[in-house]
Amino acid sequence: MIEIDTEKRAEVVDITRQVEDAVRERGVDEGICLVYSRHTTTAIVINEGEGGLVADLLGKLSSLAPPGDGYLHDRLDENAHAHLQAALLGNSQAIPVEDGRLALGTWQRVLFVELDGPRRRTVSVKVVPC
Ligand code: ZN
Repeated sequence: MIEIDTEKRAEVVDITRQVEDAVRERGVDEGICLVYSRHTTTAIVINEGEGGLVADLLGKLSSLAPPGDGYLHDRLDENAHAHLQAALLGNSQAIPVEDGRLALGTWQRVLFVELDGPRRRTVSVKVVPC
């Protein structure tokens, strides 16, 4: 399990190293690594962690589901946009494990996306041999 203390309302945190550490601790040579966020206003994506692209991602999400757009859920806690943005991205990723390591492409990173921070967040990492 990975704990993340996010610092902004919306931000992207590169958790690749923490996921790799968790895989190494399991000692699985060949398998599948599941990275799963336990929240409804966060997401897990595999993509490039370049700063401009990260800003583009958050900007595009904000334009697709902008805050305060008359959502029904905003009657409860005013974060419907964050739930919707999270639903667009998804809350988990499955990554192949080969030779005991994440089989990521050259530019691929495991990115945790905070959409309603700052908060303490928890991400589960499970490794299944196969
Ligand atoms: Zn809510």
